[in-house]
Parts: sequence; structure tokens; C-alpha cells
Amino acid sequence: MPSITVDNLTKKFGEVTALDRVNLRIQKGELFFLLGPSGCGKTTLLRHIAGFYTPEEGRILFDEDDVTKVPPHKRNTGMMFQSYALWPHLTVARNVAFGLEERRVPRAEIKKRVARALADVRMEAYADRKIAQLSGGQQQRIALARALVIRPRCLLLDEPLSNLDAKLRLEMRSEIRRICKEFGLTAIYVTHDQKEALSISDRMAILESGRVAQVGTPEEVYHRPHTRVVADFIGETNFLAGTVSGEENGRFRIETEHGTFRGVPGNREWHPAGGTKVLLSMRPEAWRIAHHTQESPAPENSLTGRVEEKTYLGEVAQYQVRAGEAVLKLFELNPRPGEGYVGERVRASVSPDDVVVVPA
Ligand code: ATP
Repeated sequence: MPSITVDNLTKKFGEVTALDRVNLRIQKGELFFLLGPSGCGKTTLLRHIAGFYTPEEGRILFDEDDVTKVPPHKRNTGMMFQSYALWPHLTVARNVAFGLEERRVPRAEIKKRVARALADVRMEAYADRKIAQLSGGQQQRIALARALVIRPRCLLLDEPLSNLDAKLRLEMRSEIRRICKEFGLTAIYVTHDQKEALSISDRMAILESGRVAQVGTPEEVYHRPHTRVVADFIGETNFLAGTVSGEENGRFRIETEHGTFRGVPGNREWHPAGGTKVLLSMRPEAWRIAHHTQESPAPENSLTGRVEEKTYLGEVAQYQVRAGEAVLKLFELNPRPGEGYVGERVRASVSPDDVVVVPA
């Protein structure tokens, strides 16, 4: 399996710059996700890697081979898209064999490889069924077998699970990871589903208006988002506006309408000077909530507010807290029945490690 390099890729559709000097390096055997708000360029980038689009500028390399001008069928990529485009009236085996017949692989070899691919996706018992007689999840497995049977150089997946119900999605996403890892496949996966990305990716790129906003492991991107869009897109968060008033040991002091907060920049390379306007991103689960009884000024990294609403979700309770102009969403893990805080004054505090500073 090759590594994939996207080098300074730019694509325009008329006035729209869909990709703007995109640089990425995807390692051999890596399960790599492309994420970002609608229209950010995920599908356009995947189509360049598959060979359906030619860029205005830049290159795509599979290992050291420049494939920018190589047509799709000569790139030998396995593809699995949202509409799995199987032929409903043909059998499972014929559907999987198609790519090999096209490549004029000998019949005996086709038979062996189809059987193997069906076994890989645990569908060997279904070879003679018609596609129309399979469930959605089973069809998805066949689409995966069809992508794998050609022994692709890499696997490209565009929203492969979006037609499935929630339970099947969960099952299929671990199945996709299992197969990628078993075969050491280099795979690029486009999705809107951040849970899918957080749970099975090795690394991900978040795109923002055709540019790469951040590349990192799920933990890096979730805990240390570099920008507002990344913080907002991956997981839920609360933003507070503030102004930098100092720095000690990599921790910044920020003045907000709720007093002083200490926090760390999402991007370690970024050193905002004193006076810079910034945003603080703080996840709902990072807060500790307590009844606010005595009137004392809020200590650093805390604020006082009134609980407007509680939503009980079983493992967590979600509180809507109004603090001045701000409305925050806070989670309480393992909530006690009856202790609702609703309508009451609370003090919520957050550790400096959970306060991420991003550009305003
Ligand atoms: P979504 O999550 O909604 O699928 P995406 O991140 O995959 O979005 P792309 O489909 O790559 O986004 O589109 C990127 C930008 O390029 C958008 O502004 C889109 O409108 C534009 N675009 C994509 N394909 C074409 C096309 N064939 N002609 C003109 N504009 C296009």
C-alpha cells in the first residue's frame, strides 16, 4: 500500500475555489478521514485522488509516482460511495467479479478471488443471492468486497454508511476499520459524522473553505482545536470572548466579562500577544457545577450563572446556564435524580487544561 501525498492542490469551479493549496501526507496503512462543514471541499479532494478531476495546480503522488494525470481506472483505487451502485438483478458473486472481468483476469482466478473477498467481509454464504434480496448492511459489505477484490492501491470511501440505520452504521464502521487494518490498507474516508471519525480514524484533516484547518489524531483535534470552526465542528463546545493579558509557562491569561481565565492555545505554534482578542473554547463535559450559596467574587476559571433548563439523558444531564450575555451548555456526568439545579444559581469552574484559546 502506498502513502498518498497531496501537494499544493488547487481546484476552481468557475468563481468558486473548491480547493486552495491543499497539502496532506497520508501514511501507508493509515485510515485517514476528511471532515468539515458542507461545501468545504471534501468530495472534491477525494475525487482528485480517485482521478475524476484534474487540478488547476498541484500534484497527487502514490508513493513517489505522480498520478495527477493518470485516469481513474489506471490508478487502481478501490471505491465505496454513498450509493453503492450494485446491480440489483445480478448475483452477489457477479457483482464482486465485475472489476476482475473488466481487467480480463482468468476465470479460475476470478472465482478464487471473489470467494476470498466475500469471506473477508463475512458474506461467503451469500454468493448466489441477488443483490435485491440483501439488507442494506449486507449490500454495504458487498460494495466493500467489490472494492477490495481488485487489490486496490488504496481505498476511497465517500459517506459509505449514510444510507444505513444507526445500529448498522456502528457495526459497519468497526468492520471497515477491521478490514483496513487486516490488509494494511491506506484508506481515505469522507464523512459528516464526527463520531465515525473520532471512533475509527488514525488521523483526520478538517477542511475549512477549501483549506486544511488542522490535521491530527482524534485526541489532538478534539482536545486542541486550532480554530473556532474546528472546535465547533468536532464535538460540542462553549465559546467565551476575551482579551489576552499575559502568559506564563505556555498558559495564557485571558480577561473576559466573567473574570480571568487561564488556558492553552489549541495551536502550540500560536503565541497571541497581550491585547489580542481571542475566543475560549470549553467543552460541556469539562465543567464542574456546584450550588452557589455565598456571594463571593468568582475565582479564576469560573463563572456564576442561573440554570435555565435541564435535559436528562441518562448518563449525563445537560444544563443550559445563563451567565450575563452568555448561554452555556454544561454536562453533569452520572447525575443524581432530583438534584436538578433548575432555576438556581450555580458556580461552574473549568481546569486551565480544558480551556482552549483560539483566534477570535
Ligand atoms: P458536502 O459535505 O456538502 O458534500 P463537500 O465538503 O464534499 O460538501 P464539495 O462537494 O467538495 O464539498 O464542494 C466544494 C465546493 O465546490 C462547494 O462550494 C461546491 O459548491 C463547489 N463544487 C463542487 N463541485 C462542483 C462542480 N462540479 N461545479 C461547480 N462547483 C462545484
